[in-house]
Amino acid sequence: MKRAHKLLVVGGGAGGLELVAHLGLAKHSNVEMTLLDGRPTHIWKPLLHEVATGSFNSGQDELNYFSHSAENNYKFLLGWMGGLDRKNKIVKVDALKVGGKLLCGPRDLHYDTLVMAIGSVPDTFGTPGIKSIVSTMIKMHG
Ligand SMILES: Cc1cc2nc3c(=O)[nH]c(=O)nc-3n(C[C@H](O)[C@H](O)[C@H](O)COP(=O)(O)OP(=O)(O)OC[C@H]3O[C@@H](n4cnc5c(N)ncnc54)[C@H](O)[C@@H]3O)c2cc1C
Repeated sequence: MKRAHKLLVVGGGAGGLELVAHLGLAKHSNVEMTLLDGRPTHIWKPLLHEVATGSFNSGQDELNYFSHSAENNYKFLLGWMGGLDRKNKIVKVDALKVGGKLLCGPRDLHYDTLVMAIGSVPDTFGTPGIKSIVSTMIKMHG
């Protein structure tokens, strides 16, 4: 039997999550789809100000990648991408530590097709104070 095509999506934000959900529901045969994200959950960033003001409970309302992947036909791996070997089609995943404890050593993920959806850094247009507020909101979620 032909080996499954390995599709690896790095980043389960607005772009990456939408992609794996759509492709997963389409149930392509012979495609092994994996989502890698450094966080176990997703929250729609435009709601971060509600998290910061306490009007939105991120613990209750964020999307858990583990359960979402089980319902949408893809595999979720928790970890931060730390490097890329394009020649050999390998994504390097950093060791996973929680509270200083090592949960998993560094890993290599092989892919046939790679989608990078790791987002970007918000532009604060030099407005004083905004940078620290945005990074605090992102840290609160992470
Ligand atoms: C406070 C705030 C308010 C916003 N309000 C609006 C709005 O009102 N309307 C609007 O249209 N847009 C808004 N945006 C912008 C919108 O959220 C982004 O355009 C959108 O989230 C970008 O999607 P993305 O998939 O490219 O990246 P993101 O949604 O940022 O997702 C990137 C994902 O990649 C993961 N990741 C990053 N690096 C790695 C790595 N090395 N290894 C593994 N995983 C990694 C992250 O954990 C994250 O899950 C707002 C953004 C912010 C910060």
